[in-house]
Amino acid sequence: MTFCMTDELKEKFQVLAIERTSPFCYGCYKVVGNVGDDSGLCTGCGSDDLMRHLDGVGVEYGSEWVIENLIDEESESINQDDIYDDMLDDCYESVKIGTLEYSVSHVLKCVDQVAYDIGKHEYFDSLVEDGVYIELNGEYYVPDIE
Ligand SMILES: [Zn+2]
Repeated sequence: MTFCMTDELKEKFQVLAIERTSPFCYGCYKVVGNVGDDSGLCTGCGSDDLMRHLDGVGVEYGSEWVIENLIDEESESINQDDIYDDMLDDCYESVKIGTLEYSVSHVLKCVDQVAYDIGKHEYFDSLVEDGVYIELNGEYYVPDIE
């Protein structure tokens, strides 16, 4: 699994994944129901070993590939640096060096890029746990789901 989200969001996406796909029987090699059908049995041969068919994308077992596609197609990815910088600069006073003044995000990036990256990762991981974002292949998305 390459996406990460709360169980609550995952349940909603699983429902949506069924709603957007049709049952497909590999044995009969055809779509065996309408989009959104989830009866679990092939109307042709009675097999319960059904795949899901997503129009224009393909056929595969399970719903996780459909969920990945839904996130990729319909959710908005965020600019991690912009959001993390804003958080840092809202939470911490700017840094004064002599008469000059620098934002914390700028200083941290220049002084310790590794600490910046680790902090950014931890920040977004905690927001994924809170259901604010979804992670998919290293990108973060705003979940667009009711
Ligand atoms: Zn069949």
